[in-house]
Amino acid sequence: MIGSIKNVAITGGTHGNELTGVHLVKHWSKSPEEVSRGSFETELHLANPKANAEVRRYIDHDLNRQFNLKDLNNPDLQGYEQQQAKSLNALLGPKEEPRVDFILDLHTTTANMGMSLIINTDDPLVVGMAFYIKQKMPQATLFFNPSDRIKDNFLTSLGRLNGFLIEVGPIAQGLLNYQVYKDTHTAVMHALDYLEQRNTGQVIDLPTQMDGYQFMEKVALPEGSEGEITAMIHPNLQNKDYQAIKPGDPLFMTLGGETIVYEGTSTVYGAFINEAAYYDQHVGLSFMEKVNIKLTDD
Ligand SMILES: [Zn+2]
Repeated sequence: MIGSIKNVAITGGTHGNELTGVHLVKHWSKSPEEVSRGSFETELHLANPKANAEVRRYIDHDLNRQFNLKDLNNPDLQGYEQQQAKSLNALLGPKEEPRVDFILDLHTTTANMGMSLIINTDDPLVVGMAFYIKQKMPQATLFFNPSDRIKDNFLTSLGRLNGFLIEVGPIAQGLLNYQVYKDTHTAVMHALDYLEQRNTGQVIDLPTQMDGYQFMEKVALPEGSEGEITAMIHPNLQNKDYQAIKPGDPLFMTLGGETIVYEGTSTVYGAFINEAAYYDQHVGLSFMEKVNIKLTDD
């Protein structure tokens, strides 16, 4: 039994150049009635203010990779985001026994992923929330990447019941776009309504399973002998997030115009295709597999 939800945190700007979450948090700070529900407290936080002031993803390290327990407890990690992660752990956690029950972390992507609900747990409360939102917003995609909460390095893993990321795109870094803003706003309203209905014992009619995509691996951009990028996402693949990539389908186009194909033996699906934030690591896309996500009983 999960028990009731008492404290919910909405975080924005974990990546400082993803302005949708930043401005939603600012908006709700002035209009808290939109995010308040009778049965729990909602708190709002800007997760990475320094990076946000510079409209950069991060200052020293990606903040959304700093939250596994070992790193939080490692005093040698003193980069800006590593310190910020420790502050957020003190504010929302501590990770081993968190004060906050659930964290909604708001992100955007330059990839054509539409509304993606990223769930890092098979916990029925979290999976149920994703199913609830997808019922209300059928265009949403469930992005399933289950991991152990204590080892997970995402900000959402500070929540007692984990939480999830709302990841909307395509939108360039450093931009606002009303449709993206409005869709993210709508998804958060559904998320809070779901928690309110659960807390107050209302019967929520949800399916026992839904289709989604499970993360398999990141795929590197082709590199030359000195580690330089030698190819880009193939034009046939651009914007084709969550569509099938079959053996022999084009993946990359070299600088000279030669096609590089997918040499795997099974069909996969792309996500984060040509995500700008991953160029620092020379990552071109993620491979996903289609999965059936089950909603188990509490
Ligand atoms: Zn992000």
